Amino acid sequence: MADQVNSSRPGSMSAPARPSDRVDAGRWWDVAEASSDAVASEAAFVGRYCRGKIFLFVPNVCDAECRFCYVSPARVSTARLSAGVLRRTVDLMAELRHCGLREVRITGGEPFVFENLVDLVTALRTADLDYTVLTNGIRLPRAVPWLLATRPLKITVSVHSLRRADQVFGRPVMIEQTVAAIAALAAAGIGVSATVVCLPDVIAEIPETLARLYRAGVREYKLIHANDSRYRVGIETFRAVAERAREALPPDSRLRFSDTAETSCLLTRQGELSVALPRFEWSSCCATVGETSLGTATTRREFGRVTLALREQLSGIIGLPCSNQGFCPIALTELEK
Ligand code: SF4
Repeated sequence: MADQVNSSRPGSMSAPARPSDRVDAGRWWDVAEASSDAVASEAAFVGRYCRGKIFLFVPNVCDAECRFCYVSPARVSTARLSAGVLRRTVDLMAELRHCGLREVRITGGEPFVFENLVDLVTALRTADLDYTVLTNGIRLPRAVPWLLATRPLKITVSVHSLRRADQVFGRPVMIEQTVAAIAALAAAGIGVSATVVCLPDVIAEIPETLARLYRAGVREYKLIHANDSRYRVGIETFRAVAERAREALPPDSRLRFSDTAETSCLLTRQGELSVALPRFEWSSCCATVGETSLGTATTRREFGRVTLALREQLSGIIGLPCSNQGFCPIALTELEK
């Protein structure tokens, strides 16, 4: 699942940019324009601008009913990727491997409801690609054996609350089994990151949640400001919680949190390119999937057109195209230790 709470919607992507808002020209299209080689320009795009990473959104279904969810998934208990979608996904990612792609970040919806997710990640690993999964953690326990075999770079688990997990996820959750699965992965050297959305009714237990996760082996944490007016936590309160959490965590932990001071769109500096299955629709940002379409692409040639569409879109960005909260909803910051 996408691990941001984002009630915002894109607004001014197509408006003409003021010169001061324009993307710095020293980016991937310098290489594109200097070269007649399509692979070189796409490699500059994926390697430099996207840092070798692409978000892969599985079809939008989920087994939880978080009341703050912004992607409105269909509720299911299990699902399968069709053979055709699975094959086209692997073929495309393998092609993009030759254009600088190194890491596929699998999100959704909830990736682990797909019974054949293991087939996807096995094929990605065979294509020499790393992968990560963003998950609500509900089905993590049963995936542990094949995760240990396929060695993801990282699993990012939404653990908003240990005491009120049923309430947050809107269904009964075996949270102790999720914590045990996290511990098994961490013990095997697989990085586990925990995402905590600071909802008003869980904020008091955040220190306890992080301490418990630390004991389970988690060393990386993200605290997300719930930028949804229904679950508003004041920015000063949020920053105070983040500061207390930083002080409480041992020095070998990394805590990042919503950067409420980030008032410019990240896309002007770094790519958050996302592709949503089953239509292979591309979006400029993981927070606006389905709303900022760059078109569809299932081949490298079509992907080249996506990069051109993104370049056009970036030149129209003014301020914060998607946020009514005054800061970029996916920007994270980290306090000095
Ligand atoms: S980078 Fe931030 S501000 Fe820009 S579209 Fe994405 S979430 Fe919105």
